[in-house]
Formats: sequence, C-alpha cells, structure tokens
Amino acid sequence: MAYQRRKSRPVWVGNVQIGGDAPIVVQSMTTADTRDPEATLRQIHELADAGCEIVRLAVPDRVAAAALPEIVPYSPVPLVADIHFEHTLALKALDAGIHKLRLNPGNIRKPEDVREVVRKAKERGVPIRIGVNFGSLPPMTREFVDEMAAQNATHTELIAEHMVRTALGHVRILEDLDFGDIVISLKAFEVPVMVEAYRRMARLVDYPLHLGVTEAGTPKAGAIRSAVGIGTLLAEGIGDTIRVSLATDPVEEVYVAYEILKSLDLRQHGATLVACPTCGRVEVDLFKLANEIDEYLKTIKEPIKVAVMGCVVNGPGEARDSDVGVAAGRGKGVIFRKGKIVRKVEEQEIVPALKEEIQLVLAERAAG
Ligand code: SF4
Repeated sequence: MAYQRRKSRPVWVGNVQIGGDAPIVVQSMTTADTRDPEATLRQIHELADAGCEIVRLAVPDRVAAAALPEIVPYSPVPLVADIHFEHTLALKALDAGIHKLRLNPGNIRKPEDVREVVRKAKERGVPIRIGVNFGSLPPMTREFVDEMAAQNATHTELIAEHMVRTALGHVRILEDLDFGDIVISLKAFEVPVMVEAYRRMARLVDYPLHLGVTEAGTPKAGAIRSAVGIGTLLAEGIGDTIRVSLATDPVEEVYVAYEILKSLDLRQHGATLVACPTCGRVEVDLFKLANEIDEYLKTIKEPIKVAVMGCVVNGPGEARDSDVGVAAGRGKGVIFRKGKIVRKVEEQEIVPALKEEIQLVLAERAAG
C-alpha cells in the first residue's frame, strides 16, 4: 500500500468489505428507472462488467421499492437502496434483500419509524450509509455561526464543519439504537469544502468513509474535479470507498474511479495506457493510434501497461518500460514486448501488432 491508511472499522455490504484492510471499493449508481427491473438489471451488469463492486439504485417511491424483488436476487454485485424520508421504502428494500441502505435517519419524522428500520437492518446485517450533501444541509443555528466565528473559521471551514455536525447528528441516532454498521459520506461540488469535511470527520470517528464530489459535471471537467477531490484525500490515507459522479453513462464513472486508484497505486485494475502528448517531432497519427488502443484496452480485465509513443527520441524509453509498447516514427512502428524490440511494422499494422503482443503477454502470464 502506497499510503498510510486511516484505520477504519470493517463494514460488510453483502460479500464486499468496506474499510478495515479492504482495498478501496469502487461504486457507481444506476441512471435507469428502478421501476423498470429489466433496464436496471441490464445497467447493473454493464457496471459490474466494467469493475463496479457495489451499485446504488434510487428508490424514490413505492413502485420502485416493489420492483426490488425482481432486481436484487439477480444482481452480480451487492446493491444499495438510496432512500429519502420514507421509512416504509427502507423496510421494503430490506425485505427484498438489499445489501445496504443510504438513508439519513434524522430526516425520518417519527422516532419509532427509525427504530423499526434500524432493528430490521441490524437483524439482516445490513449497513447504513449516512450521506450528507452540501446541497441539502439544514440551516445553521446562530450559536453555531458564532462559535465558528470565534474560531476565525473561513467560509470553507464553516460549511465543512456544518456538514460534519449534520452527519454526526444522524450517526448519533443510529448509535443510540446500538447500531454501528455505518458508512459516512460528506459530498460537495466545491472540492475544498469536501476535502475539509472529510478530513475533519476522519479525526472524529472510525466509520468507513465513502468519498465523492457531487454533481462533478461533464465527463472531462467532472473527472478532473473528482480526481482532485478524491485523490487528495486518498493520498492522505482517507477514504474506503469511492464514487465518481459524472453527467454521462455511469460505466464511465467506473473507468475514472479506477484511473484515480491506479494513479495513486492503490488498485491494479485492467490495462493502463501510456500515450505521449505528441509534439513537433511526431511522425504518425498518434491520437488515432492511442484512441484505438484505448478502446481495445477497455475490454481487458488483467493489469497490463501499454505505451503508445510518437517518435524514436523519447518513445523507446517509455515503450521499453511497459509490458507492450510502440515507438512510432516516419510511418513505421518499433514494437516492444517486455523491454525488447520484437518487430518493426508499417503504420497501418501498428494497432494489430500491438493487439497481438498484448494477447501474447496475457497468454504467457496465464501459462505461469
Ligand atoms: Fe514528442 Fe516523441 Fe515525446 Fe511524443 S515521444 S511527445 S513525439 S518527443
């Protein structure tokens, strides 16, 4: 492990452990309508195939809750029901065998309703994630604002502390009912706020932390925002499970999540592509080459490093350092496998040649 991890208590979501000594778990959420079990299951399978280890579903109403018995038993990965306000939906989700609830007990009006949900979750060994988002915070009290002002808190610190205390309020409700299978998230769009909130929470409790930047945005900007926010915390050893939120197909979220974990050397997953940015020296259509190989690599589950380099000046070094690589130049490509030149091919043969070499490396590995 590259970083000293904050110690957290293990929580089991079905057969997947979050926290303790478990690797950082990758989660995502379906965008399909939960009321349509077929479409939802199709998406769950797509997410699981991409490496998603836990999938969350919105359960906004009774029809969605009634569809859960047609979804949960057929899912290849543990599922989380995202529920707001209505405790009956949580009870239905538990009856359907859901593996985790995302629910803020303080938002359920009657204490006896909370007790009923917590009792059932405990009986079934189902954990609860308390998820406080910047967008749905309760108003701050005058005393709290004064207290923070007395500490000369910045605006970021004020919001972060408000998020932490709001989450702790929900946590206390569960703890008072002797429930400890808790995961906490404190998401915000503003990266400094979420980083500060998680840092503060990490010092106060040992519950596993679910990291995320909310409404991070379109794939490009959102991936960067998530990488900065989630990556900063992971590099400090904070965080046990992550969800990247992007305004696109959630499968993309899983790819980005693994790229974050791979860049910090926290998880090995699938292939890693090294591609040079190109410069005035480039002599082949490198972007096309890199994109074609990138698409192909998405189909590969085993860890393998592939380099696509644009010239013979800096290319060979990186290509040699990878499992498979090409240093291209003057319409040709020098193909490397495990540090050795294995062949020289014409530009149009580079992609098929790389694919063959990748398969060779994987076959050699499988043979032991
Ligand atoms: Fe430029 Fe060659 Fe480096 Fe690519 S590998 S950026 S083409 S010097």
